[in-house]
Amino acid sequence: MSYPNVLLHINGEWRGARSGKTIPVLNPATEEVIGTVAHAETADLDEALAAADAGFKAWKKVSAFDRYKVMRKAADLVRARADMIAPLMTQEQGKPLVEAKMETLAAADIIDWFAEEARRAYGRVIPARAEGVYQLVIKEPIGPVAAFTPWNFPINQVVRKLSGAVATGCSIIVKAPEETPASPAELIRCFLDAGVPANVISLVYGVPAEISEYLIAHPVIRKVTFTGSTPVGKLLAGLAGKHMKRVTMELGGHAPAIVFDDADINAAAKTLAAAKFRNAGQVCVSPTRFLVQESKYEQFVDSFVAAAKTMKVGNGMDPTTTMGPLAHDRRVPWVEGLMADARQKGGKVHTGGERIGNKGYFYEPTVITGLGKDARMMNEEPFGPVAMISPFKALDDVLEEANRLPYGLASYAFTKSAKTANALGNGIESGMVTINHLGLALPEVPFGGMKDSGYGSEGGSEAIEAYLNTKFVTQAGI
Ligand code: NAD
Repeated sequence: MSYPNVLLHINGEWRGARSGKTIPVLNPATEEVIGTVAHAETADLDEALAAADAGFKAWKKVSAFDRYKVMRKAADLVRARADMIAPLMTQEQGKPLVEAKMETLAAADIIDWFAEEARRAYGRVIPARAEGVYQLVIKEPIGPVAAFTPWNFPINQVVRKLSGAVATGCSIIVKAPEETPASPAELIRCFLDAGVPANVISLVYGVPAEISEYLIAHPVIRKVTFTGSTPVGKLLAGLAGKHMKRVTMELGGHAPAIVFDDADINAAAKTLAAAKFRNAGQVCVSPTRFLVQESKYEQFVDSFVAAAKTMKVGNGMDPTTTMGPLAHDRRVPWVEGLMADARQKGGKVHTGGERIGNKGYFYEPTVITGLGKDARMMNEEPFGPVAMISPFKALDDVLEEANRLPYGLASYAFTKSAKTANALGNGIESGMVTINHLGLALPEVPFGGMKDSGYGSEGGSEAIEAYLNTKFVTQAGI
């Protein structure tokens, strides 16, 4: 299976770094080096910034209707190329090929939606106090965007930022993940091949901290958007604040998944286990703290463990695989550290709990019970295939546990009671609450967190607003 040496895209040219430096790219299923990615430095970033500046000045003048037409073409190219792009993603990231293809095809739908929605970036006319005065609210693209995206969804994390920026008339420099560079590069190629001007989109890789420090501080950049961990998000938000840049932050989560005793317990266990082990748990909205009402606790644990045992862990290129390896070498020691702490604090491991083999970053789907609030994994984001299940007595107790952590991204609940569902919808402190099904992350609905999970939205009309300035013009007759 072939894998490219991935290049930067700057000002219409796909090229290596000016320094010639590259970074190796590994397949997490084999630990073999499968290619390289170009390593940008300041000289490259300066060229990308000059392109973004010029690109923005021209692109903002293109009508929303014409931008929409180009983006719809980009979406069609993504669909047409999905069978070529998905294996690149599986090789670099590890996820099963079928999931890589779904992610690629979903990106096309996201592009379509943003393209359409940006045509409706309406301003408004505010009735004036004096005759002959017109008070206009106008929406304008914010300017060149710096976007930083992680490796867990190599395309999905880029496409929301890219589509929001391009649809509204902004230019963008994407710092895509060094671990998984080829599939996002192919996404960007679709935009360029569809006719987005070459200086509107730049793509760089390198040392994330060096690039973010340089781009965020630079006067050309007007907006910063980041997806990744809370500590890095706080760092970048601080930097953006210092330079007065608008910010969207999609950060970590530690989602409660609450199951009441009136729910269909086996169906809830099956649905939640599928969500838990998708992408080996490396999902910001992954359910992590499973909270089950006492009388059905044992049944849920048995049912969830049975579902975990059906997962087939292996190389994502094998069509029978349902869970791939963890995505890079830092993940296995992280999960092992959490597990060692959990065992030491009396956790009972029902299934899994070990690395698989010694080649490839495979880890068993793991279910653990009996953990107190002092266990690290009940506080820190596991970002791995580990499910912690605990019992609860009543609504008030479970709401307290759900809201205990500083995170507030996603939450899940299963109940047949409308009263309980309403109380959860109102009471849980998280940006997204999904009750009795898995209903998050469609392009047309808001996607974002609160508290330490960040701010801003990458879905729904709010995601368009994130790339727009609001200008007020008041005009009297002459
Ligand atoms: P990490 O914190 O080192 O990196 C997370 C992401 O941020 C990576 O893509 C990295 O390239 C980027 N990054 C790191 N420092 C940066 C900087 N100074 N400037 C710009 N970008 C920077 O951790 P990791 O081991 O790669 O990932 C583990 C943690 O990251 C998880 O615990 C999870 O919370 C978080 N994460 C979250 C998401 C998400 O979807 N919200 C995705 C991937 C990782």
